[in-house]
Amino acid sequence: AKRAGGNTYCFYDKKYEPPRVDRYQLANDLKKAVHRGELEVHYQPIVEVERNIIRGFEALIRWKHHRMGWISPTEFIPLAEETGLINQIGLWVIQKACHDMKRLRRLHGSPKMIAVNLSPLQLENKQLPKQIRDILRASGLAANRLELEITESAIAQNVETAIETLQELVKMGVQISIDDFGTGYSSLSYLKRLPFHNLKIDKSFIQSGKVEDEAILKAVIMIAHQLQKKVVAEGVETFDQFELLNRLHFDYFQGYLVSKPIPVDLLPQYLNQQATK
Ligand code: C2E
Ligand code: CA
Ligand code: CA
Ligand code: CA
Repeated sequence: AKRAGGNTYCFYDKKYEPPRVDRYQLANDLKKAVHRGELEVHYQPIVEVERNIIRGFEALIRWKHHRMGWISPTEFIPLAEETGLINQIGLWVIQKACHDMKRLRRLHGSPKMIAVNLSPLQLENKQLPKQIRDILRASGLAANRLELEITESAIAQNVETAIETLQELVKMGVQISIDDFGTGYSSLSYLKRLPFHNLKIDKSFIQSGKVEDEAILKAVIMIAHQLQKKVVAEGVETFDQFELLNRLHFDYFQGYLVSKPIPVDLLPQYLNQQATK
């Protein structure tokens, strides 16, 4: 028994306790996760503020590890980036999302669009536009129904390459959103340099409830609208937060107030429920 040795045993136990998550092992498991079918994509509704209808969904990757259960993307996406797996996994998500949306549209006639998160490393891959063109062709989804979400850090790495890749994608008809806006550096200069369509303002601004944040929101939304961009609120959890974004003329919003990310099997049922509301 563990207790038998008293303090000495406890010390021994502690010393040899393996790390909760062995990153090397985890990276290996991640490599196999795609083939093992452990990765899933869940979809969170993106809603039009004014008409209260679903515009589309954001694809969010999920990993159900065969032993450890669900692992958060905030944990395994950085690992995928460190090990170079991100390109493969990132493409898999785009492919899955495009196919799922095409099927849903055939079945249901909606939604209008699907948003997929892009890692900074994917933007550095010169093959990306061609790879996305192939995926769109194979799935039959129109390019303007695919939206790619990039963060400011994605751009800061290698500005020129990022802009070139984005321009190529925009030429194809793909929509671009800047994600987590307001959390990175030099946000304002990017607004004029980058080709993009939507500004997703980081949830910290919506959730804080501070007058300072409301003042910043007002100014940012005014700039974005002057530049003909749409503004998206994320992390909307309460009706008070919804009232704020409604008052500030956000165009779209997402958050637990509407729904958590939904497994793909439940989407048809979810859309039917919405239609009869
Ligand atoms: P993100 O792109 O900013 O996604 C929003 C995160 O907030 C998601 O967490 C979502 O589930 C969560 N969320 C949605 N509504 C609410 C709300 O009302 N309140 C709160 N507190 N949270 C809400 P998730 O799914 O755990 O993803 C975390 C991050 O992992 C994402 O942040 C994104 O940066 C990254 N990620 C997820 N899927 C992918 C992917 O396929 N590729 C890449 N490169 N990154 C991904
Ligand atoms: Ca996102
Ligand atoms: Ca975000
Ligand atoms: Ca984020």
